Amino acid sequence: MPQLSLKPLLAAVLLCALAACGHGNSTATATGSAAATAAPASSGPIKVVTTISTFDSFVQAVGGSHVTVQSLVPVGASPETYQPTPQNVAVLAQANILVENGAGLETWLARTISNAGSKSLRIVVGTDGLPIVKNNPHLWMDPQYAKHYVSLIRDALVQFDPAHAADYRANAARYNAQLDALTASIRRKIDSVPAKNRAMIVFHNAWLYYNARFGIRTLGFIEPSPGQDPNPKNIGKLIDLAKANGLHAIFSEPEYSPKLAQQIARSAGITLVTNLYDDSLGTKPEVSNYISMLNYDTDIIVQAMR
Ligand SMILES: [Zn+2]
Repeated sequence: MPQLSLKPLLAAVLLCALAACGHGNSTATATGSAAATAAPASSGPIKVVTTISTFDSFVQAVGGSHVTVQSLVPVGASPETYQPTPQNVAVLAQANILVENGAGLETWLARTISNAGSKSLRIVVGTDGLPIVKNNPHLWMDPQYAKHYVSLIRDALVQFDPAHAADYRANAARYNAQLDALTASIRRKIDSVPAKNRAMIVFHNAWLYYNARFGIRTLGFIEPSPGQDPNPKNIGKLIDLAKANGLHAIFSEPEYSPKLAQQIARSAGITLVTNLYDDSLGTKPEVSNYISMLNYDTDIIVQAMR
């Protein structure tokens, strides 16, 4: 008996489904397939958010005037120990595309994305498809790997905004050619240092991929792995390494306390360099974009290693 009483309801549901009841958008459905993958024409520039400021250059180079970009981690802060803010969540909730590094750099990000709750956010993971060594996330520090980030950003913009695909492709090709020129210029500079001097001890191992590309030996680092607390027990070993290899300098970044690096420099009788940039751009013009940052770093490294 109850089955009989359900019949009229079932019929109504079926009729309703056939007639697209309550939506009244049958024309939108018919023409909407292209719009479903493209940016709405009236929404202004595409909002791209990056995790670290170093990636902003890639987005600006490829997106040009079609995009706006901002980073979640402020200039001068470390992404490995970053504590996201409510402001970050709000920015992410409004974003169209997020560019992150992956490879364990942004351990706080999954929760921030979830808190932002955006259902339409597209995510570019820059290290996707690159060879990650020893769980070290700093692949962008090799300008040849940076080209891969640029290509993934290009693909995401082409997919999101096909109307400007030609612009994104031309911009990415131009910027990647600049990264090839940068690679050649860094190589020339590093090659000018006597081979026996091409070695570094660094505060945090952001230099693994850069050093591998340009033939610099990474002798050691004060942080056991990116984001972990420095290991004071390691200091004696690093002092011995610096002396045994005749190092001229030890390298750190403005965002870290110079204390332990100072201790090594003093004990080994070598120079302390504290102004390298890697996880973050700087506020000075000479370190305000990726290419100028790597040129600046390279000049400092070359001068200190000589
Ligand atoms: Zn780092």
